[in-house]
Amino acid sequence: MRLQKYLAMCGIASRRKSEALILQGRVKVNGKVIDELGYKIDPDTDIVLFDNKRVIKKENYIYIALNKPEGYITTVKDQFNRPTVLDLVKNINERIYPVGRLDYDTSGLIFLTNDGDLTYRLTHPKHEVEKVYIAKIKGIPTEEELNKFRNGLKIDDYITSKAKIEVLKKYNNYSIVKITIHEGKNRQVRKMCEKINHPVISLKRVAIGKINLGNLKKGNWRYLSKKEIEYLK
Ligand code: URA
Repeated sequence: MRLQKYLAMCGIASRRKSEALILQGRVKVNGKVIDELGYKIDPDTDIVLFDNKRVIKKENYIYIALNKPEGYITTVKDQFNRPTVLDLVKNINERIYPVGRLDYDTSGLIFLTNDGDLTYRLTHPKHEVEKVYIAKIKGIPTEEELNKFRNGLKIDDYITSKAKIEVLKKYNNYSIVKITIHEGKNRQVRKMCEKINHPVISLKRVAIGKINLGNLKKGNWRYLSKKEIEYLK
């Protein structure tokens, strides 16, 4: 790769300006000043310095919000050959992967990225990113059951931390509830609803922190905006 192209790619300056910097003798490759244009480097092995500081290639990070439909799994590959969320995101050259997980039968908001740091921060319980779900559950929960849900329930071998639940609509034999949790244990919402005897009929994640699913259609995706990415970081 031409040296000026590499400098531009690393965000040092535009290609034209990088040429000027080279001609000024401010760029070194493997310890030697290169002050002529057209010099080619190997970005993987050559060490480039600008004003004696190492020039590092910026990663091309990708951040995507997807509305996952039911019937897709959130791993990169499936041993049973079921469709994965990656089948819904085409024409992306980078190797991206889902952040956290949603059950096969859950729909809604999930991020995909190649930024491992972000994945770590969003999936670590200590960061307490709230996730908001809309669930259709069997029956109509009483205030007592709702309070049990809010105060923490024993599920498997752990006690859930405080959660929010609000009944949005009541029907004859089911209800629509809004649930907010900041943990991500396996099938946690389903297990919590089961525990108060109102099993989930369907489940959809509508927000992660301040980022909402909005009107993104099932199976569609969009890039996160700069503002959204800054907020998550
Ligand atoms: N809780 C669940 O039970 N399932 C999901 O997919 C997400 C949260």
